[in-house]
Amino acid sequence: MPERIIPIFPDSSSRTLPAPLAPGRIPCGALGLPLTDTRQRPLTDLRISVTDRCNFRCRYCMPREVFDGRYRYLPHADLLSFEEITRLARLFTQLGVRKIRLTGGEPLLRKDIETLIAQLAALRTPAGVPLDLTLTTNGALLAHKAQALREAGLRRITVSLDALEDAVFRRINDADFSVAGVLKGIDAAQAAGLSPVKINMVVQRGVNDHQILPLARRFRGSGRILRFIEYMDVGATNGWRMDQVVPSREVLACLQEEFALVPLARAMPGETAERWGYARADGHRHDPALGEVGFISSVTQAFCGACNRVRLSTDGRLYLCLFADTGYDLRAPLRAGADDETLAGAIAAIWQGRADRYSELRASLSAAPRIEMSYIGG
Ligand code: SAM
Ligand code: SF4
Ligand code: SF4
Repeated sequence: MPERIIPIFPDSSSRTLPAPLAPGRIPCGALGLPLTDTRQRPLTDLRISVTDRCNFRCRYCMPREVFDGRYRYLPHADLLSFEEITRLARLFTQLGVRKIRLTGGEPLLRKDIETLIAQLAALRTPAGVPLDLTLTTNGALLAHKAQALREAGLRRITVSLDALEDAVFRRINDADFSVAGVLKGIDAAQAAGLSPVKINMVVQRGVNDHQILPLARRFRGSGRILRFIEYMDVGATNGWRMDQVVPSREVLACLQEEFALVPLARAMPGETAERWGYARADGHRHDPALGEVGFISSVTQAFCGACNRVRLSTDGRLYLCLFADTGYDLRAPLRAGADDETLAGAIAAIWQGRADRYSELRASLSAAPRIEMSYIGG
């Protein structure tokens, strides 16, 4: 049978790199001013996809009928090496990045990921401050890896868990992985000192919306922060429909039927999650011991205006938006021997030209080719 190649990269060629800014013209150089895009958004947040592979087959992300035995993943030589990733991360740090999230695919599948974490944990901002270094995982391998991740310098972690009922979760991950296995990973992360542990639940109508309250009950007062994510139209393979999205307002209303919740300030500018705290018995004041929940409303309340995030794909392309259809190939100049100044100047020029705001325009856009989240990094 011929090998099936699914054209998930709409552009097999990438965008041409703009002329690098001269070092003296990079705004966050000596003056310490932030590097901003065309909408005055600073570059502060870098997401790095370390593998396009995964041991789950969540239907909303890597449906089994597409990501099957014949699917062609990136060959190992195409992946950025740890040294290449670290070099780019250092340049991004010089340009203003303060937070790095490792993702994928399933980042814990990348061999020796602890080594990369140790390299990234050693990076410092120009002011000498360590980065906010974190990772998003499906939790399957976390029980074994949590301690090593912490020892390597990881500070906090986000674990995805879409249901508490085992049969529902197994249907969603489509890999027969149990809830108990993920809960074990979450416990191990907390025991290892990764803090806070955040739990991501992608809510889909008719699939797991009946799991909102069970998950909330489970994590209320546990020190872990449950976050509800609106199901997004990322990629081209999940068959997304608007009627499958459960708006955050609806999730909040569902929680409020059982719990008193009070709004909390956002953790920091550009933070995607809207925070609500569980209230004390008076129903008005936040009880920190009961914790909080978060809502990431990418579909119903676009937060493009504060989006300071850039994504580096597994093979070294830079994407300015989760919904971008083309990326900038940084691997080619990296492997052709470009010096730091040239690379940093190119990245700065790319960011300065950025105008992306897909979620704000979603309703008015016709279907365009999309990059899969497992490749670009969730
Ligand atoms: N494999 C890891 C995991 O599942 O946590 C990391 C990669 S995954 C692409 C990152 C996050 O994106 C997960 O929390 C996942 O649930 C979320 N995600 C994937 N597809 C999504 C979609 N279509 N809409 C909203 N969130 C999505
Ligand atoms: Fe894998 Fe994460 Fe995508 Fe699920 S959401 S298929 S665990 S990459
Ligand atoms: Fe950022 Fe693009 Fe998402 Fe808007 S749609 S918040 S620009 S990643």
